Amino acid sequence: MKLKKHLGQHLLVASGVLDRITQLIDPKDGDILVEIGPGTGNLTKKILTYPFKALHLLEIDPDMIRSLKENIKDPRVVIHEADAVGFDFCSLGENLKVFGNLPYNVASLIVENTVFYHRCIPQAIYMLQKEVAEKIQKGPSWLSTFVRTFYKVEYLMSIPSRFFYPKPKVQSGLIRLTRKEDAPKVDLKDYKNFLTRLYSMRRKAIKHKLPEEVLLELSIDPMCRVESLDPEKLLLIYNIQQKVRGDKR
Ligand code: SAH
Repeated sequence: MKLKKHLGQHLLVASGVLDRITQLIDPKDGDILVEIGPGTGNLTKKILTYPFKALHLLEIDPDMIRSLKENIKDPRVVIHEADAVGFDFCSLGENLKVFGNLPYNVASLIVENTVFYHRCIPQAIYMLQKEVAEKIQKGPSWLSTFVRTFYKVEYLMSIPSRFFYPKPKVQSGLIRLTRKEDAPKVDLKDYKNFLTRLYSMRRKAIKHKLPEEVLLELSIDPMCRVESLDPEKLLLIYNIQQKVRGDKR
């Protein structure tokens, strides 16, 4: 099959690495699994050797869909021709284990979408561009803060480009998101807007971005930058700001 660069089609072809990733995904009896971008099904076939209840495949490319339908005849598998960006995960169940070797051009958007549906996704294991994976785990970025408000993020391992076909220009990294027990209940769109606003021109002092009364209430140094504030603090700021806004109405 001819692989499509614009869809980020770099197939993971090293059997040993696929085995290791499958162990980390750790499919179990009763699990409802979701794979993003199964491609030709290299990882999928490894997963099929484990017990689980259902496996939903989300793939955007009709050519890949056709080959998956020909090659995978397991009654537990449901194939969806779908865009993982914006996909409504909660339509598949309430307790999903999501994973995938993500298409790198839209990997950040898929991670963002995972957060929007975190209510139904207690765990996700994603392979993405190494730099992006590291930045999601450590920050600073609005997306890292957004993810870490709801999930514990672990960097599991790096995967050199030689294990892929065709070989990508960048190294890859595997991360695991584990939903926090006390994931806060906030309006996700509004919270995202709050974070992107604070992180735009992130070197600017925080006093230019937040009302003085919020800074005073939390004793935040008005000269500090957003990147020095951890996700817990930013959530606190968000909640106080909501309250201040509410009081003014
Ligand atoms: N998991 C396979 C293929 C990874 S390549 C492997 O490891 O070998 C990324 C896959 O994601 C490709 O099959 C590509 O067609 C698919 N893809 C690209 N954009 C997508 C999107 N927005 N939604 C779902 N799948 C997408």
